[in-house]
Amino acid sequence: MSVYVVGHKSPDTDSVASAIAYAELKKAMGMDAIPAMQGELNPESTMVLNKFGFAAPELMTDGAGKQLILVDHSDIAQAPDNLDQAEILEIVDHHKIGDITTNNPIFFSAQPVGCTGTVLKQLYEIYNVEISKNIAGIMLCAILSDTVLFKSPTTTDADKQACEGLAKIAGVDDMNGLAMEMFKAKSAVEGVAAKDLVFRDYKDFDMNGKKVGIGQLELVDLSLIDAVRDDLYSACQEVKTEGGRHSVFLILTDIMKEGSDLMAVSDDLSIVEKAFGKKLEGKWVWIDGMMSRKKQAVPPLQKAFGA
Ligand code: MG
Ligand code: MG
Ligand code: MG
Repeated sequence: MSVYVVGHKSPDTDSVASAIAYAELKKAMGMDAIPAMQGELNPESTMVLNKFGFAAPELMTDGAGKQLILVDHSDIAQAPDNLDQAEILEIVDHHKIGDITTNNPIFFSAQPVGCTGTVLKQLYEIYNVEISKNIAGIMLCAILSDTVLFKSPTTTDADKQACEGLAKIAGVDDMNGLAMEMFKAKSAVEGVAAKDLVFRDYKDFDMNGKKVGIGQLELVDLSLIDAVRDDLYSACQEVKTEGGRHSVFLILTDIMKEGSDLMAVSDDLSIVEKAFGKKLEGKWVWIDGMMSRKKQAVPPLQKAFGA
């Protein structure tokens, strides 16, 4: 039976690259592993896979009757549907431990580093499997993407070290140039429906029994979305209503200014001040230094929700 290696819903470059890279490692170790993803490639991931010569992984959103290896998440809300009818064999991640449980003991490798790619680099070393040139390329891109070229506070020395090693294998001399190419690709917002932008990099969380959605748009310049801010807000309202969510947040990150406008729709908007110490100024508020959903948005929100 094939084993699907799959990242989270609304896949980002790490979720896609790690599915491919870990499937390669498992194949090298004799497993019939298939990389998969739970949604369409975003513009950045499209660029990355093209650059290093990979086809898009198979779409797979229903876990029923399948054996799965999860990468880049361990939350039920971000995993394939019907997870209770799937068998989870392994999890490799770099987030907080989520709410997934298993009946059997499994291989679970999570580290507080900036990217699943960094954990995978170490697993390749532990199992003494050579990383091929193109796999190294997409792993490198995943780390550069997740750490926003090491600007995110999630960045660790392990991430930088992994990138140095991977860049050598991939034959990449100009990491900054590669990162800029990715940032430009991910800044492509023109002509994209507001709701698709909300879901481009989006995660649902269970916060003390309340369904909370958090999207993030990382842009080289926030002026790129000047014309669509109100549409983004309406889209957040729609997403909130449709999914029976308590709150939807959209983190509009300016990669260059290293901060974010936090947009919020909620049944209780006081949660914003509770979590971040700042009141909304209309539909959003600028939070200086905010780059990371997992480190700077999720933990204070969970605390504010009393989870
Ligand atoms: Mg991810
Ligand atoms: Mg990641
Ligand atoms: Mg990210």
